[in-house]
Amino acid sequence: MTALLTSLTTRIARTGPITLAEFMTECLLHPTHGYYITRDPLGAKGDFTTAPEISQLFGELIGLWLAQVWLDQGAPAPFLLAELGPGRGTLMADVLRATQGVPGFHHAARLHLVELSPALRAKQAAALPGHDITFHDHLASLPDGPLFLLANEFFDALPIRQFQRGKTGWHERMIGVDAGRLIWGLGPEGDFDLLIERLADTQEGQLVEVNTPALPLADDIGRRIVTQGGAALIVDYGDAVSLGDTFQALRNHQPVDPLTCPGAADLTAHVAFAPLAHAAAPARASAPTPQGEFLERLGITARAQALAANLSEAALDSHIAAHRRLTHPAEMGTLFKVMSLTPPDAPLPPGLDP
Ligand code: SAH
Repeated sequence: MTALLTSLTTRIARTGPITLAEFMTECLLHPTHGYYITRDPLGAKGDFTTAPEISQLFGELIGLWLAQVWLDQGAPAPFLLAELGPGRGTLMADVLRATQGVPGFHHAARLHLVELSPALRAKQAAALPGHDITFHDHLASLPDGPLFLLANEFFDALPIRQFQRGKTGWHERMIGVDAGRLIWGLGPEGDFDLLIERLADTQEGQLVEVNTPALPLADDIGRRIVTQGGAALIVDYGDAVSLGDTFQALRNHQPVDPLTCPGAADLTAHVAFAPLAHAAAPARASAPTPQGEFLERLGITARAQALAANLSEAALDSHIAAHRRLTHPAEMGTLFKVMSLTPPDAPLPPGLDP
């Protein structure tokens, strides 16, 4: 039995069942046994792969997107170039390489990375040599200033709560203990303020998810962008609203039972974009736009062809496969959505649906 499983079963036996959000927080961020705290989970040898790890095409286009939005707002200097959960630092490295030729951009950029994992902070620093990085545990400690912020597969890693619709109210999905094993259960039926709006679009027996930490975070991002300028680009799998159980655990790129290996699997849930947009108001939110369409509009095919000209054989095959993986509807193209937040009076950024 892992140390975290022992600590969770002991805690639940002593003080009662815990919410899914409490379980996820322990599994992902426990100070000594947490999944993200102890390892670099990304890549072929890890548990999952992300868009920037698939191809440089992704980060390069996002870099040019950022530069365009920065220019559209009058090229404010200095500005905060920030990222939530930068993983291995690959996205930011590609962004910085792609923007090297944009006059004034690097000179004005102040790099701020929000990352809790010491293991990943080390990778990020190594991926960004020669750059002056300020690390933060939370967005709240970023200084004031125009904020240009990226978040790829960050919100899906935040802890969610799950609720099943009852006759008049909701039962929260809880995790308890039976014979030394973790088990699922349902809490007593009750009213929950955070679900009032979901009574209209759900029926008895249906399950909804609430990403509670995402809402104050989106509120903070929106407030900063509205008062000081800037933009945020949020990329994740999900849809406008949550419906159904999307909680999943991945280990070695395979789904596993999340209750049997706490701290050893990546835990995520789909992101509901409409509540983020709502929390970020009065910042202007784009529609959650399919990643494939977003990247096509930014010119991924032309860039892929230019890179392909210098490749052959296996390298060319894997380049073509990576382009397809990022954009094709059967791969990441439709499941993943991109949403921007900008000041209410700024133009809609390139590539996004209004
Ligand atoms: N954006 C990267 C990595 C995605 S994995 C990429 O696309 O490759 C999720 C990232 O968010 C990791 O860097 C993880 O350590 C970080 N993270 C997860 N929960 C966090 C939290 N609550 N606060 C700060 N960082 C967090």
